Amino acid sequence: MIGKCSSCFMKVNGLPNVKTCREPVKDGLVIERQAGWISPDTNNEESSSVELREIDVDVLVVGGGPAGLSAALKASEYGLDVAVVDEHFKIGGQLLKQTHKFFGNVELFGGMRGFQIAEEYSKKLKSSEKIRVLTRSVVYGVFRGGLVGVIGENTHYVVKPKVVVGSTGAAERYLDFLNNDLPGVVGAGGVQTIMNEYGVKPGESALVVGSGNVGLIVAYQLLQAGVAVRAIVEILPEVGGWFVHAAKVRRYGVPILLQHTVKAVYGDGRVREVEVVAVDENFNPVPGSEKRFKVDLVLLAVGLEPDTRFFSQCGAVMKWSPELGGLVPLRTLDLETSVRNLYIAGDASGIEEATTAIMEGQIAALSAVSKLADRSKAGRAEEEMEKICKFLWEDYRTSPVLARARRGKQLVTVSREEMEKIRVTYPPRVSFG
Ligand SMILES: Cc1cc2nc3c(=O)[nH]c(=O)nc-3n(C[C@H](O)[C@H](O)[C@H](O)COP(=O)(O)OP(=O)(O)OC[C@H]3O[C@@H](n4cnc5c(N)ncnc54)[C@H](O)[C@@H]3O)c2cc1C
Repeated sequence: MIGKCSSCFMKVNGLPNVKTCREPVKDGLVIERQAGWISPDTNNEESSSVELREIDVDVLVVGGGPAGLSAALKASEYGLDVAVVDEHFKIGGQLLKQTHKFFGNVELFGGMRGFQIAEEYSKKLKSSEKIRVLTRSVVYGVFRGGLVGVIGENTHYVVKPKVVVGSTGAAERYLDFLNNDLPGVVGAGGVQTIMNEYGVKPGESALVVGSGNVGLIVAYQLLQAGVAVRAIVEILPEVGGWFVHAAKVRRYGVPILLQHTVKAVYGDGRVREVEVVAVDENFNPVPGSEKRFKVDLVLLAVGLEPDTRFFSQCGAVMKWSPELGGLVPLRTLDLETSVRNLYIAGDASGIEEATTAIMEGQIAALSAVSKLADRSKAGRAEEEMEKICKFLWEDYRTSPVLARARRGKQLVTVSREEMEKIRVTYPPRVSFG
């Protein structure tokens, strides 16, 4: 339900492989189940009337979440032409689902709710003559000559960018347990989509797996939506999220079962019951400790994994980082990867949070400006970039909450000289510019 998998693929008006979690409902839609490998029906009007359009642009932004939107806005402020591409029908990324207020100072949107931040960005982008926004459009591949393929509604774009900012976000992690594919087992982001974005109550009673901030916040939002939260289970011996978020759910009487995990769900066609089990210090199930809860929703809030498929396809040199949630590209301090003129920002660069995603987007854009704009603008951009980098590394990221991500980002950041050597040893598959 956050557009990252194929679980909701269906035939819509005869067109196969449509991600229905992103398909707006309208009168007369014909929706059919599909199974296996389906080829498009070439006689179908929807799949055969595709127009081809070529676009030259200074900066192509892949993904319109906080990282991509801040990058687009910053690059446009310095006069660059920008195209922002997003798969969803609205820009904002994960912000669209966040109904709680952000902490921090006003310049970093402190006091605003996530969806309001998305609305503010959306207004600014739409009023800029320098920015073209392509929604319901997917960046599906990159080709020799630095051409990027984008498929939109009835239009196939071939984009020739000078610089690309990849801000593709993250996918949710899943867990292995019996019947984990029954409808009613959903990721936290998925539940936020259903409940906060589309305004639909996702179930009557729920069990939440994972007590990090995402699990705690979404558990609280479920309670506010009138869903009975039976328990939160956490495999570690302590709560992962902030005390303030845990206190809110505890006030509602929701137990947080530490050193517990989910063992199985049961139901006929959908979740009816969930079985949890205690674990020992080696995370092995303790026989005889099983408990069952009658629920119709099992929410998995067990972490996110950077979505770096675009970077892999470009041949960017990657590194495994447990602190950042998985495989991420090496980058310089100004966020350029080993593919020249390909930048990374936001969750794709390593799981962190929306505010740091915004700052990373700005850094990537300012670095692009320093390459593409005239000398006076380039000089100003470099100064602004240095200020943001200093604040991000020497102030914002020194918060204990971000200590792990900070360590991870340090380990995947290399000097420009080091990056030049990496480029020689591992030449990328494409180049932009
Ligand atoms: C459930 C949940 C709760 C969260 N709660 C908070 C919170 O309370 N506070 C906080 O600070 N952070 C929170 N976060 C984290 C925060 O939302 C993210 O760190 C932030 O949104 C990352 O921004 P981003 O721009 O990197 O990615 P995203 O916001 O994920 O945006 C990425 C965008 O890229 C698009 N995209 C990806 N691939 C393609 C492609 N190939 N073609 C076209 N478009 C593409 C996607 O459609 C998406 O819109 C939460 C995250 C989740 C999942």
